[in-house]
Amino acid sequence: MAYRAPVEQIRFILDHVVGFSEVAATDRFAEASADTVQAILTEAGRIASEVFAPLNRAGDLNPARLENGVVRSSPGYAGGFAALAEGGWIGLSADAAHGGMGMPLSLNVGVNEMLSGACLALQLNPLLTQGQIDALEHHADDAIKALYLPRLISGEWSGTMNLTEPGAGSDVGALTSRAEPAGDGTYRITGQKIFITWGDGDLTENICHAVLARLPDAPAGTRGISLFMVPKFIPDENGRPGTANSLRVVSLEHKLGIHGSPTCVMSFEGATGWLIGQENKGMAAMFTMMNSARLGVGIQGVGVAEAALQQAVEYATERNQMGPIIRHPDVRRMLAVGRAEVFAARAICLACGVALDMARATGGAEWAARAAFLTPIAKAHGTDVGCRVADMGVQVHGGMGYIEETGAAQFLRDARITPIYEGTNGIQAMDLVGRKLSDDGAAAMNLLDEVLDGAQSAQAGLPDLANHVWQAAETLREATQDLLERQPDDRFAGAVPYLAAFARVLGAHFHLRAAAAGGGDQVTLARIYITRVLPHFAADLTEARAGLADLEAISDGALAGVPG
Ligand SMILES: Cc1cc2nc3c(=O)[nH]c(=O)nc-3n(C[C@H](O)[C@H](O)[C@H](O)COP(=O)(O)OP(=O)(O)OC[C@H]3O[C@@H](n4cnc5c(N)ncnc54)[C@H](O)[C@@H]3O)c2cc1C
Repeated sequence: MAYRAPVEQIRFILDHVVGFSEVAATDRFAEASADTVQAILTEAGRIASEVFAPLNRAGDLNPARLENGVVRSSPGYAGGFAALAEGGWIGLSADAAHGGMGMPLSLNVGVNEMLSGACLALQLNPLLTQGQIDALEHHADDAIKALYLPRLISGEWSGTMNLTEPGAGSDVGALTSRAEPAGDGTYRITGQKIFITWGDGDLTENICHAVLARLPDAPAGTRGISLFMVPKFIPDENGRPGTANSLRVVSLEHKLGIHGSPTCVMSFEGATGWLIGQENKGMAAMFTMMNSARLGVGIQGVGVAEAALQQAVEYATERNQMGPIIRHPDVRRMLAVGRAEVFAARAICLACGVALDMARATGGAEWAARAAFLTPIAKAHGTDVGCRVADMGVQVHGGMGYIEETGAAQFLRDARITPIYEGTNGIQAMDLVGRKLSDDGAAAMNLLDEVLDGAQSAQAGLPDLANHVWQAAETLREATQDLLERQPDDRFAGAVPYLAAFARVLGAHFHLRAAAAGGGDQVTLARIYITRVLPHFAADLTEARAGLADLEAISDGALAGVPG
């Protein structure tokens, strides 16, 4: 089935739901006029539909391969990547000083949705490069910026992110890779990294690894981690890829999905690296990269959900069982709930992008706090919706959903990684109820105030819907207050349902705005969300407030099915 890039839906949310006009009104983003935004989204949508989407199945059937230590990418990927690089898309929101377009990140979120919906495995490559660009812009010294940024932005080189080790996944502080000062300003990096996305490939002439490692005598845990730039080929004096660095791909993983994305075991064997930022402050730099990538992964979930939903609707229109199955109430329910969920998750990700843009453009601390609060929600909720909708897509196809040739199963297999990488959704939720509520809930309450105001404004035109949203926001405020008074472990026990509840309330808030602005189908869609999706928030909050006691009380034997 042909993927149709949802250009108009993204544009509608930017214009009427998440306040993009405020971004465009800043000096920094003055070039993001309505015409420019339309042109960017339209062209990105064309690349997604015409160039990326036709590669999706080929990558699934012909995974990346390791041949003589070099990764060979799936058929057509090199051409797809080249189209992206030539159009300047990798640097869409990168600083113009190094060749980027300097456009708002929120626009890039929309572009990334379309590219990932069209071909997730390939889109991962530029996504990681974008994260690296962001980290270098904020933390690298001028020499590294001047050497690497123009080449990453142009797509001549690509970037990777090397955190994970066999003993250090969610617990990044446990990593053991070492960095020894070489005496000439460089470092020798030694260690093994696993699960490194696009750790090698034939799309670019150099691959720039951002690697976390420990200096000798570094403090234990995350306070003793430094970040290094470790290129596959060491740049010569002209900035051309020169001598091969002492690193190699040991093997590629066989995976459930994203077969076109090579997931590499990497060995660094005294490789030459350059420090990014300060010694032992690597986590700060890596967090810049991870936060950018977290929002990027959230919108990947939305992208796959949109693609899976489009295919499910098309199948339901064509398939006849006692009439076209799209006319059966339960099939309509699945599709309508899926459509409403995609809208809400997309709006949350775009709102997070707007908050980041406003923080950058105005330096406003409240915007930064909002962006920080929304990031784990965008990541976890976007990817949960990705899996839910892809799963629904399989169900709508009936038996054909389980057969690979329809592609419905691929969406589900591909989407399934998104709640895991870039910090599992459990870790995102702990971040939300831990660090992101550590301002005594100010950012959360601020957002809830806006939801309540929105409900009040909608009262005149859409009273029944507005009442539901108002009530839900009030209940969420009480639950937030309650959580704030609890011990950390007690909060953590309810973190995932709390995040889900928050996302549902935000989703309802954005639906309400859209209904007020769009009328017609937008009102119906809001009604579907508010009556069918939002109400689960109450169950989520009941679980969020259940605390730790019963989870501690249940024995490991009982968990294993052999109660004592
Ligand atoms: C296809 C793929 C691509 C990837 N790409 C990259 C990449 O490019 N670069 C990179 O560095 N890494 C990458 N990763 C690694 C990925 O980020 C990790 O797999 C992920 O962070 C989880 O770590 P883990 O696998 O060690 O799981 P674990 O940390 O062992 O977690 C297992 C379970 O325990 C939970 N858990 C762990 N600790 C806690 C805690 N303190 N509290 C509550 N729950 C907890 C987790 O939520 C999870 O459910 C990739 C992984 C895959 C599979």
